[in-house]
Amino acid sequence: MPNWKILITDGLDESGLAVLRPDALVDKHNGIGAQELLRRIPGYDALIVRSRTKITPQIIEVAASLKVIGRAGVGVDNIDLQAAKAHGVTVVNTPQATSLAVAELTLALILALARSIPRADHAMKAGYWIKKELLGVEINAKILGVIGMGHIGAAVTQRAALLGMNVLGYDALLPDDVIVVSGAQPVALAEVYARSDFISLHVPLTPETKGMIDEQALGQMKNGVYLLCTARGGIIDEGALSRALESGKVAGAALDVFAQEPPGTESLVNHPAVIATPHIGAQTVEAQARTSRDIASEVLAALEGRPLRWKV
Ligand code: NAD
Repeated sequence: MPNWKILITDGLDESGLAVLRPDALVDKHNGIGAQELLRRIPGYDALIVRSRTKITPQIIEVAASLKVIGRAGVGVDNIDLQAAKAHGVTVVNTPQATSLAVAELTLALILALARSIPRADHAMKAGYWIKKELLGVEINAKILGVIGMGHIGAAVTQRAALLGMNVLGYDALLPDDVIVVSGAQPVALAEVYARSDFISLHVPLTPETKGMIDEQALGQMKNGVYLLCTARGGIIDEGALSRALESGKVAGAALDVFAQEPPGTESLVNHPAVIATPHIGAQTVEAQARTSRDIASEVLAALEGRPLRWKV
C-alpha cells in the first residue's frame, strides 16, 4: 500500500513515476496555477516541480504535511528557499542529470560554427549551391577556452580533447588539479581570453557572472574568436556581442540561452554569424528520463530519511 502522497505540477517522464509508484500515491496536475496549488497542497508529503511552478512562502505555509520539494532540473530560483528552510521542508534537485546532453549540444555547436552547417543547409533548401562561400576551419589543434569547469565544462573538455582540441580551463572556485583531471590546462581568465580560438561558457548566472562577457572581455579576445554559450542568458552582454560580431572581432557565436527567452525579433538571433537554438541543452530523451528518475529517487530518499545526494 503506498505510503506517501506526492503531487507533480509540471510533468515528469514516465520512468520517474515508475520509481515513485510502489511507495507513493502520485497525483499529476500538470500546469495548475497558484490558486489551485494553494487549494490542493495541504495533505501532500512531497511536491515535484520544474521551473514553471512558483513555490511562494504562502504555498509553503499552507502545506502542513509537506516534507520535501523536488525540482526536476537545476535552477531553484522558482522556490523560496528561506521559507522552505523555516518550515523544515527539504529541497532537492538533479544537478547532474542533464550535463551530458548540454555537453553534446556544445560540441555540436562548436562543429556547426567551424563549418557553417546551418548556413549551408539553409542555402541548399533555398536552392543555392554556395560551396565557395563555405570555407570552414578545422577544430583539430585549435584552442578551446572553457570558462566554468564544473559538470558540463568538464564533459565538454573531455570530448573536445578527443577531437584534437587543446583545452584551457578557468574556474573561479575549483583547484587546478581538478581542472587537470578533466583534461584542461588551468589558466587565468585573461589567458583564456587572449589565447582561445573558441570560448565556451559553463558558469552559473550569478552577480559575478552576469554580463561578464562585456565590451572589455570581448576586447581581450583574439580577432576572429568563436564564442559559445549553453549556460544561462545574461552572462553575455548581448549588445556588446552584437557590436563585436559587426566589427568581425567575433567570427561567430552559438547561443542556446538568451537574456530574455524567447528573445525578441530584433535580437542577435537574426545575425548571420549567430547559430541560435531555443534553450535545448537538456532536451534529449536520455536527459529527461535521467532527470525524472533522479528526482523521484531523491524525493523518496528525503521522505524515508535516507542520505541525500542533491540537497539544495
Ligand atoms: P556546475 O556547478 O557543475 O559548474 C559550474 C562551475 O562554474 C563551477 O565549477 C563553479 O566553480 C564555476 N564558477 C562559478 N562562478 C564562477 C565565476 N565567476 N567564474 C568562473 N567560474 C565560476 O554547473 P553545471 O551543471 O556544469 O552547469 C553549468 C551551466 O550550464 C549553468 O549555468 C547551468 O545553469 C547551465 N545549464 C544549461 C542547460 C541548458 O539547457 N542549456 C542545462 C543545464 C545547465
